[in-house]
Amino acid sequence: MTINDDEYVFLLGFNMDSFPIIDKDIDYISDKEKEELPLYKTTYKNTRRKKSLIHILSNIKNITISYHLSSSFNSYYPSPLIDEYNFNVIKDTPITKEYSNFYNKLKLTKYLDLYTTYNEEYTDLRELLTHYKIPYKTYSNKYNLISDFTKNIKLPLRFSYTSLNNYNECHFKYYLKYILKIDNYESNFASFIGTMFHDILTHIFEDNFDFESYYNDYLVDKELTNKEKLLLVRIKQELKELIEVEKKQLLITGYNKSLFEKKITIPLNKKVDSEFMGFIDRIFYNDKLSDFNYSIMDYKSGTIDTDILPMKYGLHLQLPSYLYLIEKSNEFNNPKFTGIYYQNILFDRPTWSLKDNDYNKIINDNTKLVGYSTDDLERLSIFDSSYEKSDLIKSMSYSDKFGAYTKILTDEDVDKMTDYTEKVISDSIDNIIERDFSINPKIYKKNDISCKYCNFKDICYKTNDDTKYLDTVEDLSFLGGEE
Ligand code: SF4
Repeated sequence: MTINDDEYVFLLGFNMDSFPIIDKDIDYISDKEKEELPLYKTTYKNTRRKKSLIHILSNIKNITISYHLSSSFNSYYPSPLIDEYNFNVIKDTPITKEYSNFYNKLKLTKYLDLYTTYNEEYTDLRELLTHYKIPYKTYSNKYNLISDFTKNIKLPLRFSYTSLNNYNECHFKYYLKYILKIDNYESNFASFIGTMFHDILTHIFEDNFDFESYYNDYLVDKELTNKEKLLLVRIKQELKELIEVEKKQLLITGYNKSLFEKKITIPLNKKVDSEFMGFIDRIFYNDKLSDFNYSIMDYKSGTIDTDILPMKYGLHLQLPSYLYLIEKSNEFNNPKFTGIYYQNILFDRPTWSLKDNDYNKIINDNTKLVGYSTDDLERLSIFDSSYEKSDLIKSMSYSDKFGAYTKILTDEDVDKMTDYTEKVISDSIDNIIERDFSINPKIYKKNDISCKYCNFKDICYKTNDDTKYLDTVEDLSFLGGEE
């Protein structure tokens, strides 16, 4: 292409790595080997490219070359040719102050940033500051009341333990996640394994359950990497061990029947049609008893936090909300509480060699039910025949009285807990319907319980003033009366 003398050329982005482009000596045949072959070496090609570029540029009569030093995401260096060929560089052209108000304001912002952050004062700063009034550092992250979102979404409004837990961790998090729905759920191998365990455990007590065929069917259309397939070999073995434990536990309990993945819904009397819903992993019961004596169990992988005391603030409501669903849904005949538990289904196995008995003991200990039991010995003894030194419930022991580490709830506690849970659910939903989505993350026992795994850190611009420090809850007296 020929450029005439009466044409004007503007060359942008005259930066290092672009002008000139430099090849590296990384070809399959190296420069050293090229010496003995009819091939150009990298250094030769680089020099030739540079000379050719300079030749072209120097033959354009009217050319303006510019480079950039930064973008929103990166910093850049000018082309080394500028120094090497002694280009005439004009810095800070006055054009910005003369022609563009918008650009001047941007520049003023940048200069103010440099001044407030590094105490660097650019010559134009004062002049620009006297000319322009810009809303510098006036941004407020405070939530402004939105319009009534319930008019635009399908009713009934559905709430669960998880969604209300999110709300009570931080109202704004709930808004982003459940109203704007901007959270991208990405499944990964860990969530895949968790779902697989849940699914298979749901079926293990069915007639004709055959582990191998169920397991193989489950994996039939799943796409897994070779690494994941390799991990599955060990995980499959752990799942088989867990199923053996579940079968042994069934010999200990007199609650011979189970409901798996039981969905319970309670319609709520709110000004907008609403309901509270939960899926309970497993409900143990005895079909021979006239009352519905039950224990609830939720499968968990990893460390289990059984502390239900933060329910005072509407947090850790999972097991209490399941109690509420069973006690208040009218689905069950005279429900009588026996226990609320978690069971660990995925945990680190011993890596050192052990005798079979010792290994089995570790597996049994890790898979014991963790949580709260009734103090009613009649019910407890049917549910856990080994309750005096339990093989089913962690830390459960009884000899004249319950052991020091046994976690007990009386029927009165359960009633109060259910009522309290109902109130927390109701209040939270009222606040959601009233569109209270303030930014109010919580710190509890010095732990950042709201923001640590929140995906919205880049959106909310949380300040220290937004954070609420919750008092540590020592006992269940907040339910009303003595614990
Ligand atoms: S990062 Fe913290 S303050 Fe921000 S939305 Fe999430 S929980 Fe709320």
